[in-house]
Amino acid sequence: MPTISDGITKAEKKSKNRDHKRKLEDPEPELVVESKKDKKKKKEKVEPPQEIVNGNEILNGSDELSEKKKKKKKKQKKEEEEEGIKNNGGEVEEVRETEDNVVVSGKDINDSKYKALSSFSESKLSEELLECCKNFSKPSPIQSNSWPFLLHGRDFIGIAKTGSGKTLAFGIPAMNHILNKRKNKPTKKVTPLCLVLSPTRELAQQIFDVLSEAGKPSGVRSVCVYGGTSKGPQISALKSGMDIVVGTPGRLKDLIEMGVCQLQEVSFVVLDEADRMLDMGFEPEVRSILSKTSSVRQVVMFSATWPLAVNQLAQEFMDPNPVKVVVGSEDLAANHDVMQIVEVLEDRARDERLVTLLEKYHKSRRNRVLVFVLYKKEASRVESMLQRRGWKVVSISGDKQQRARTEALALFKDGSSPLLIATDVAARGLDIPDVEVVINYSFPLTTEDYVHRIGRTGRAGKKGVAHTFFMKENKALSGELINVLREAGQNVPANLLNFGTHVKKKESKLYGAHFKEISADAPKATKITFDSDED
Ligand code: AMP
Repeated sequence: MPTISDGITKAEKKSKNRDHKRKLEDPEPELVVESKKDKKKKKEKVEPPQEIVNGNEILNGSDELSEKKKKKKKKQKKEEEEEGIKNNGGEVEEVRETEDNVVVSGKDINDSKYKALSSFSESKLSEELLECCKNFSKPSPIQSNSWPFLLHGRDFIGIAKTGSGKTLAFGIPAMNHILNKRKNKPTKKVTPLCLVLSPTRELAQQIFDVLSEAGKPSGVRSVCVYGGTSKGPQISALKSGMDIVVGTPGRLKDLIEMGVCQLQEVSFVVLDEADRMLDMGFEPEVRSILSKTSSVRQVVMFSATWPLAVNQLAQEFMDPNPVKVVVGSEDLAANHDVMQIVEVLEDRARDERLVTLLEKYHKSRRNRVLVFVLYKKEASRVESMLQRRGWKVVSISGDKQQRARTEALALFKDGSSPLLIATDVAARGLDIPDVEVVINYSFPLTTEDYVHRIGRTGRAGKKGVAHTFFMKENKALSGELINVLREAGQNVPANLLNFGTHVKKKESKLYGAHFKEISADAPKATKITFDSDED
């Protein structure tokens, strides 16, 4: 049974909401929480005040009256401020928080046509389009809060992660957009109408799989392009026609430059994991690709965090009034079902300890166990070490050909090879179901990644274990790790405390340096080759 889940602790959730609220007050135009009372007030505001007749103020020449008027205005302004209504150059932005712990903000969001959906049928979409949802009882929070906006053509920012059902959140409206366009004029199928950009090959493939399946009943065709594999079959696929092109930025740019992929008809653009894409140094490619799409387009951005660079990209390429939906998943509580064990040990002791742990956690050799390492070389080394010792293990790292990586993931997913070694980048964004145990062979570079990793287990209320090796090389992160453990009510080992409880930076682990002013001459992200970076 598919799950909607995510991987952050309750404390993270609180911090996320806090940070979101702070964010809403910060660089964006004025945002307000609109209550019923506010709405009434707004309605009242439409009525011209007594002093205004036909748009002209009646000047009565009386100081007393003018003083009264000033006072009245001041009082009105104060009331408005108190009740949270502010007019920002004519653009009133509103915020609503739903029962699903979803925060929706933007202009006119409380219009009845944007009401969140409580069932699939409320969307009034065709049976063909909803066929892929027939096994789901209702739209996930991101779907129910995004479809009304996306189906009405609004630009959209979604702060949600894989596991929230976000692929169909943008996928179904994208297909609806395509089908509507087709009615008006026959699609020249060699030029796509929709583009989905993804930071990694695996995520691109995953999106492609979901969209291909979902598009079958209505005949919407997708093609997937990414680096690390030969261009020939991708070029043939592009030539044979499609409605949606899903791809990683580097390969897509190559194909555009070769003249085999034209984006001028693309009027529905999705940037998935936008933050990750920029982190990986793909900003020039993303900008270049976006500039090749139709100028009349609907833009959807999904991101797990909302750093300045992503905000700038959104401001440049999106409508000035996009809707923003932040999903704080209820499933975050599932993380309290993860038992976090941290073991301080020496580098050279890790192999033996890993084998001992596998004998304990992977005794049946059937349950899914995910071992995280940091670098691709490490992935290959640990994989060979375990294979030599008789373990059936697969890995996803950049050392492998794309086909081998896709195969490894499929074997892990279908349970035929349930022991997988992965790096953070390769695993990021992947919907990996039912992992019973996560073993952190190497501690990640950030606590955020740690939270991500452990969120792979303990999903949908199931119990999970996250067993972590912590070495003295990782001591800079001991304070943050201790906080994560404490917040989740986990045991903090004494030898971890010895590394210190100091926490360097005070910023949201989820949103990162949201509001940090970044100097214009700060070094820009450059393209670094991670394990799952494309060629
Ligand atoms: P995603 O975030 O798109 O990677 O989706 C995560 C998982 O949720 C996938 O296995 C989807 O099949 C599943 N899913 C998508 N929409 C729903 C829904 N409305 N109800 C239950 N599961 C869903």
